[in-house]
Amino acid sequence: MKKLLLCFGTRPEAIKMAPVIHELKKQEIAFKVCVTAQHREMLDQVLDFFEITPDYDLDLMRAGQTLNGLSASIFTGIDKVFDDWLRQAQPDSNTQFGVVLVHGDTTTASMIAQATFHRQIKVGHVEAGLRTYNKTSPFPEEINRQLISRIADVHFTPTEKASSNLLKEGIPVERIALTGNTVVDSLHWAAEKLAGKKLSQEIFGLKALLNNDNKLVLVTGHRRENFGEGLEEIGEALLKLSNRTDLEILYPVHLNPNVKDPVQKRLGNKPNIHLVSPVAYPTMLWLMQRAVVIISDSGGVQEEAPAFGTPVLVTREYSERMEGVEAGFSVLVGTNRQKIVEEATRLLNNPPDLSNRQNPYGDGKAAERIVQFLKGL
Ligand code: UDP
Repeated sequence: MKKLLLCFGTRPEAIKMAPVIHELKKQEIAFKVCVTAQHREMLDQVLDFFEITPDYDLDLMRAGQTLNGLSASIFTGIDKVFDDWLRQAQPDSNTQFGVVLVHGDTTTASMIAQATFHRQIKVGHVEAGLRTYNKTSPFPEEINRQLISRIADVHFTPTEKASSNLLKEGIPVERIALTGNTVVDSLHWAAEKLAGKKLSQEIFGLKALLNNDNKLVLVTGHRRENFGEGLEEIGEALLKLSNRTDLEILYPVHLNPNVKDPVQKRLGNKPNIHLVSPVAYPTMLWLMQRAVVIISDSGGVQEEAPAFGTPVLVTREYSERMEGVEAGFSVLVGTNRQKIVEEATRLLNNPPDLSNRQNPYGDGKAAERIVQFLKGL
């Protein structure tokens, strides 16, 4: 088995790498974890829940950090991690002994992939092959993903569509492993961990805040391409919806000031719009289950919501996750206020029954398949 280093930096990456970490532990395979902590608090919430203690923590989050500033810090910081990992793992002379696993589409993932390539170490890409083929949407994630695909030596794809994208781009079939998305493994792990446990203080607090007789609309949003006008449009749509007396809107607001400040300013004064800090992952699962409609630009939420049969209005013009749209779990609404209000009203008035449809993103065994493939390298 090649030596493994898993690198990630944000909340969604941690949620989706956790099952791989759990599977490696279960199979008693040695590995190290490095976090860049591109998002500090939101990452730590997840590390804690999934019981992950990083071996290396670059702690790179800085207020007002630019993408280039972050990229530069990753390049500067990662060599020391590689050096230590290589020393401890007792490499052979040509350094072809190890694999660095990165996840998804973040700046952390694409910069670490490039830094790994510079050191002539192999790269494995978890959640590979998603595409919009639109350079600016999602920004910068689409190009991050494409860059990683040029560099990676093995590609773990969540769906057939993702595998087919990579094949069309000339990636050899033997380097692609269709595994499903580990996001579903995480849902299963969380359900097992939480079974029979008391609800958390956070959930108790939300139960007290929300009126049980009202329909719940859950909102999240953080995409760069929606900063400014997009967020304003979504805000206007939420204000319009909040005129209904039979619903409540709960919005865990992303900590990025480009999101937090305008959202607070526009939506802070409505009694049935509750703006709260990002919630813990189990709380988010509880909310997704309770919601009648989710309005979100999040990738992970689009993949998780089908497990709860809750429809998602995706506030994006383009999505690299069209499987959920095609299976009827989500609707691409963009950021036009009227379209959001119309679609939300339709779903609130006639909630679809999605309970018997299969989640197109995975079956909960993705991590097992990833580790199996890694063992065969
Ligand atoms: N999430 C969470 N708390 C929140 C909002 C989201 O735990 O307050 C979880 C959500 O369930 C999903 C992930 O964070 O698993 C998605 O993260 P985000 O929307 O930041 O990123 P994306 O998935 O778009 O990359």
